[in-house]
Amino acid sequence: MAQQDGFLKFDRELPDSRSPRKRVEDFKEIYQPFPEVKTKKQAARCMDCGIPFCHSGCPLGNIIPEFNDAVYRENWEEAADILYSTNNFPEFTGRICPAPCEASCVLGINKPAVAIEHIEKTIAEKAYELGYIKADPPKDRTGKKVAVIGSGPAGLAAADQLNKAGHWVTVFERESRIGGLLRYGIPDFKLEKQYVERRINIMDEEGVRFKVNAEVGKNINPDMLKDDFDSIVICTGSTVPRDLPIPGRKLKGIQYAMDFLTMQNKEVAGDEVKDKISAEGKNVVVIGGGDTGSDCIGTSHRQHASSVLQLELMPKPPQNRGEADPWPLWPMTLRTSSSHEEGGERKWGVLTKEFKGNEKGELTHITLVDIEWVNQGGRQSMQEIQGTERDVPCELALLAIGFTHPENHLLDSLGVHKTQTGTVEANDYKTNVDNIFTAGDARRGQSLVVWAISEGREAAREVDHYLMGKTELPAKDDSF
Ligand code: FAD
Repeated sequence: MAQQDGFLKFDRELPDSRSPRKRVEDFKEIYQPFPEVKTKKQAARCMDCGIPFCHSGCPLGNIIPEFNDAVYRENWEEAADILYSTNNFPEFTGRICPAPCEASCVLGINKPAVAIEHIEKTIAEKAYELGYIKADPPKDRTGKKVAVIGSGPAGLAAADQLNKAGHWVTVFERESRIGGLLRYGIPDFKLEKQYVERRINIMDEEGVRFKVNAEVGKNINPDMLKDDFDSIVICTGSTVPRDLPIPGRKLKGIQYAMDFLTMQNKEVAGDEVKDKISAEGKNVVVIGGGDTGSDCIGTSHRQHASSVLQLELMPKPPQNRGEADPWPLWPMTLRTSSSHEEGGERKWGVLTKEFKGNEKGELTHITLVDIEWVNQGGRQSMQEIQGTERDVPCELALLAIGFTHPENHLLDSLGVHKTQTGTVEANDYKTNVDNIFTAGDARRGQSLVVWAISEGREAAREVDHYLMGKTELPAKDDSF
């Protein structure tokens, strides 16, 4: 490493964000520019540990100390080569990953972890700016054809890798735009869609074919795919939302988070949106304390909700890493998202008991009760705290309590087996059907973008091996 003691000299520093009051007036990303010299200092904080736990903390196995060193030496081309050798889309993960790599950073034992996510985003953007990222179609084609169903990060990563291996890849997407949850779930204030489009354009130039408004099992016959393609990769995500079947569920004003977020993302993209679900002037209650819930909060602020309350069933997580608490684990829920900084109230250990409405069948209130978690014979179970039941005003309730599994009809029509939880059953990304593979949330259940990219890459290796009897696509550990 060029700099041995940067961690002693420099503190962790991140770009400032725009003021919460100002940024809720638009849907643009929230971070301000950060001078390159400061990013160089952040990279210099990397200790180049003997055993870099960040490698294994990252589901992609990103080679972090090496790219930090290249950034410190201002060799952006080398940094980009290292980063892109393991991650197809650092321009996405550098913006929205909860950064498990930072949770594994050894410096984090004594000081704040290296700002790996920010460094990753800077490398990715420099690589575009300096012209290192451009269309590079494969020199030779194998003549094999692969259909990828679903254009989220798993499908895109699989398509990118398989195209690099020389196969003809067609991505089928039922929506009118490519990107999966990158496009329709994650709001623009976390990831502006110009970055998704920039990447899709490059893949398109490289020869990946994208078919939109193409729902396999509806207007695209699965048998056609079986006949026309040598292999199929199912990357359809985990799209069935978890419901909350409590009294009053049928009242008007109770919506799934994804319906709310999708409409807003479409509107920002300039698409026509009919009967938009709007938070304007309403008391909004977001049920669910994860990423989806946070995105609903930020979106509600931008739609000028009159109040926003977020509820989480689980207890408040520990403030410090290492404090005993079984679940949820640091860093996933200790995170204060940018949406929380913008206002609203956040409550943990609260159960939603009932939705109440008026004579028109419209939601007006939610009945809540505080709960505590007690250990009963080794199992955590919840108990209502007497005297805490109350009604809070609410005209819009957003259900952000997770997703159960992919939709059944496609899996059934392709004849692939499911696990007990309804995800696609697979062994090394291979389903029970000889030439059908799977990756991403459809296989592992709802997860993260970084895992979806990792799975897409791994599944691509399996497909390539199946088609060619060998593969030279990089495996997680020998990428560089
Ligand atoms: P998806 O992104 O869900 O893509 C699946 C695609 O398949 C969709 O485009 C769908 O339309 C398409 N499809 C489904 N069925 C068919 C069919 N029959 N024919 C054709 N197309 C079909 N993760 C993070 O790391 N950071 C975050 O900040 C973050 N925020 C999130 C916010 C929200 C609101 C949500 C819901 C999730 C968030 N996640 C986040 C999780 C992350 O987005 C997912 O883990 C990831 O997108 C999964 O990728 P995937 O490719 O497996 O599936």
